[in-house]
Amino acid sequence: MADLFCQGGDILGIGKNGHDFARLMRGVPSQPLEHFVASNLDKPLRDISFRKQRAPYRMSMEHSIGGCFLRENQMQTRFGRRFKRSFPVRSAFCVQRDELLGSQAPLVKTTPGQQQSIRLPGNHRTVITTCAQRPASAVEITPRLNQFSAGGSGLWHLEKKGIIHFPAIRKLKIEFPQAIICFSNVSIALSHSDFMTLTEKIIAKACGKTSVAPGENVWVNVDVLLTHDVCGPGTIGVFKREFGQNAKVWDKNKIVIIPDHYIFTADSLSNRNVDILRDFVREQGLPYFYDVIDDPEGHWKFDASQGQLKRQYGSQFAGVCHTALPAKGHTRPGEILFGTDSHTCMAGAFGEFATGIGNTDAGFILGIGKLLIKVPETMRFYLEGQLAHGVMAKDVILHVIGDIGFDGATYRAMQWEGPGADAMHMDDRMTIANMAIEAGAKNGIFAPDQTTFDYVDARIKANGTKADYDPVFLDRDQKFIYDKVFDLSQLEPTVAMHPDPGQRELAKNLGKITLDRAYIGSCTGGKTSDFLAFAEIVQGKSVKIDTFGVPATPGVVEELQTIHWNGSTVWQILTDAGVLMTENASCAACLGGPLDTFGRLNKSMNCISATNRNFPGRMGSKESKVFLASPYTVAASALTGHITDPREFLSA
Ligand code: SF4
Repeated sequence: MADLFCQGGDILGIGKNGHDFARLMRGVPSQPLEHFVASNLDKPLRDISFRKQRAPYRMSMEHSIGGCFLRENQMQTRFGRRFKRSFPVRSAFCVQRDELLGSQAPLVKTTPGQQQSIRLPGNHRTVITTCAQRPASAVEITPRLNQFSAGGSGLWHLEKKGIIHFPAIRKLKIEFPQAIICFSNVSIALSHSDFMTLTEKIIAKACGKTSVAPGENVWVNVDVLLTHDVCGPGTIGVFKREFGQNAKVWDKNKIVIIPDHYIFTADSLSNRNVDILRDFVREQGLPYFYDVIDDPEGHWKFDASQGQLKRQYGSQFAGVCHTALPAKGHTRPGEILFGTDSHTCMAGAFGEFATGIGNTDAGFILGIGKLLIKVPETMRFYLEGQLAHGVMAKDVILHVIGDIGFDGATYRAMQWEGPGADAMHMDDRMTIANMAIEAGAKNGIFAPDQTTFDYVDARIKANGTKADYDPVFLDRDQKFIYDKVFDLSQLEPTVAMHPDPGQRELAKNLGKITLDRAYIGSCTGGKTSDFLAFAEIVQGKSVKIDTFGVPATPGVVEELQTIHWNGSTVWQILTDAGVLMTENASCAACLGGPLDTFGRLNKSMNCISATNRNFPGRMGSKESKVFLASPYTVAASALTGHITDPREFLSA
């Protein structure tokens, strides 16, 4: 084999004398490989499959940005009872991404026994150590999190927060006389036979296993624990009871506390909850607390005399937790996020496993940072086509929940795929993932892509939160308990009728239902894009019924007050139309709350709402009826006083 391992565009090869085990990338036939084979870096390596006799194994490589090649080694290994290994490595080469892409960057060579540190793109560093004789740790690549070693307990392995590895291999003989491999910032997993869904891959990574299967109970390491003013005091109580009054949390950098529910109310017990959070944060030294007030020694008290519309929060306040989490840089692909709130599943939009838990589990996590969970089965929702004007992501999720029922995904993962999902911006993915729980799902999840990374990286940078993360990507073959294609172009404005989110009807058929109130807000429907859609309908018109607008975060307030349309801010357009807009971003009436909560349904009435849940009593009075709909449909209905298809107000 010549010294040259790869030329422009070449990124991976496996040396000659290999058995019939390699298949690189899709479309490359399985065959004995005599030379390094190439694929295009523009299409990151995802799959390498190889077979030995009847045992299929799989190695997947993702997100490759650099490469390291060994040569002249004598790797040989056998797994299982006749385990054997031998890989003296004489030299190693690291190839930077630019070079892989065909630039003239020099090939970096190392000499046996020496370490060499190389900077890779994206602030990654590669440390190469070669060793002439030792069979282990011949090569290490450590781009912050990654660590690649030749040798060790398998042929070679990549350690990146517990991703690995080859323990499942049996009776596989691999010889690498010219040898391979490895891309920095790569996820490599080799598992027996079964390919995994996104949720399974994240859980496997979080419990340090090669693979997991639905139904399996595993302990996972937690990346982020979220709590808020309603559940935080209870969670703290469990933690102190079980771990002691003076106990310290397992990792103060992984706890995010966001008061958001019962904030702008004169109810003294609700105000006190925020103070309990503040005391705990001060005691533990927690960095991620988004307080309502700026004084860390102070007490929160809502001033009812100022009314509900004028802002009463300080500079740290973040608004509704699920919308605030990504805005403040706490959602990262590939991570495990637990929150003491059922709509924690919204963060699945970012390609992470995110789900709601109870105070007891959360108190336990505060103490040890782990949780025992059962791996859910996965349902795939494959989206094709494009939404027509007037139809929104909210209509997609209402349609799907109507299809499967409000318990149709109980303890399952709802995985969203297809060109229709890929084309969605993050707000839309959040809307859909948010309502996974309305079908009973354990979590909802989208595969991360460049849209995700751009969104996440920008907010991490703006907020200085943890910058490294380890995404997982779609496997080519996955096992689903349910798999259905939805054509987005066929969907129409949809409404979930009283009394649950699965009661699906088309808005165009509901004109006879008169309304007393319209409401736009919440984590699901209080984002900037939701208000822009709403404003598109009501601009220059007047609402006919009481209409309440509650932005999800202070950031949304700021955007609506700075985005101009035809010389007016969007905020002004909304208020001119008669919408009661509050600057006090919070959950407000989405969850009912104390009697003085802004927008609360304090008596029997019909309300059309851009929120996510409509069980009896959800927004206040149990006698009220809540109709869930998109911001477009809520806006059109606010203008007419009855449920209205928004396409009546939109030009084709
Ligand atoms: S806005 Fe509503 S659904 Fe979202 S966290 Fe608050 S109460 Fe829950």
